[in-house]
Amino acid sequence: MTTDEAAAPATPVAVPVRGWWARCLDLLFPSVCNACGQSTKGDAALCEACRAAIPSLQSPFCLRCAEEFEGRIEGDFECSNCRNLDFDFAFARPAVANHPVVLQMIHELKYQRRIHLAPELGRMAQRSFGEDPRLLEALAGKWPLVPVPLHRRRQLWRHFNQAEEIARPIAALTGLPLCRGLARQRGTGSQTRLSRAQRLKNLRGAFALTREGERHFAAHPGGAVLVDDVFTTGATTGECARVLRKAGVQKVVVVTVMRG
Ligand SMILES: [Zn+2]
Ligand SMILES: [Zn+2]
Repeated sequence: MTTDEAAAPATPVAVPVRGWWARCLDLLFPSVCNACGQSTKGDAALCEACRAAIPSLQSPFCLRCAEEFEGRIEGDFECSNCRNLDFDFAFARPAVANHPVVLQMIHELKYQRRIHLAPELGRMAQRSFGEDPRLLEALAGKWPLVPVPLHRRRQLWRHFNQAEEIARPIAALTGLPLCRGLARQRGTGSQTRLSRAQRLKNLRGAFALTREGERHFAAHPGGAVLVDDVFTTGATTGECARVLRKAGVQKVVVVTVMRG
C-alpha cells in the first residue's frame, strides 16, 4: 500500500468543502506539482504520478528509530544504535524514507514559508496510520496529536509552526484531536552541526507543558502522538517525550513525514 487512498482510515471523516473563493484562486493561480510542474487539482502539491513515486517506509526497519535496513531480517529488530539509547517515546514512525522530493518540499515549507505545501505533507505523514498496526492503539484511544513546538521568535519569523500545519490534515483524516500541548521556552539554535550528546545538552529544559497540555493530559493521560516534519536523531522528539512522560502521559509515539 503506497497511495493515500490505501492509507485512508476505514471510517470516512468529513473534509471541509473548498469554497468558491478557493476555486477562483485555482483558476487564477493553477496549482502545479512541486516535483514535475504539471497542473494539479485542489490543494495537491504533487501530481498523482509523482506522489505514487514516493514509496512508504519499507520493512525491515528499526522498531524504535525507523532506520531502514537493507537485506532480509526475520522478525522484529532494533538497530545497534537504539540498543544503547533510552528514548522516552515508544517508537518513531516516519511515513516515508529519505526522499529528495519530500526533503525539498519540507525545506520550502520551513525556509521559504511555502505553507501551501503543508496539506500534501500532512496527508503523506498520515499514511503511517494506515500502514503501521502499532498506531491502532493511538487511533482507538483518541490520543492527541502534539506538534513539536517552535520558539516564539522563530514562529514570528515563519508565521506558522510547520509541525502544527502537518498535524492539521492528520487530525482531519484520522479524527484525532490536535493539542498544542508543548511550548518551547527558549531557542536552541540550529542543531544540525551538533553531536547527539551536544544536542541533548542543548535541549535540556527547552520544552514545557502548556495549559492546554495540562488540561488535556490531566483528563486523558493514556497517550500522545508527537508530530514533526523529519525524524533524525530523536534528540528533539525524545526531549519532548520526556516532558510529556514526566507530566504523567503513559505512552508517547512519534509520527513524522520523513526519516532524515
Ligand atoms: Zn508531478
Ligand atoms: Zn534504531
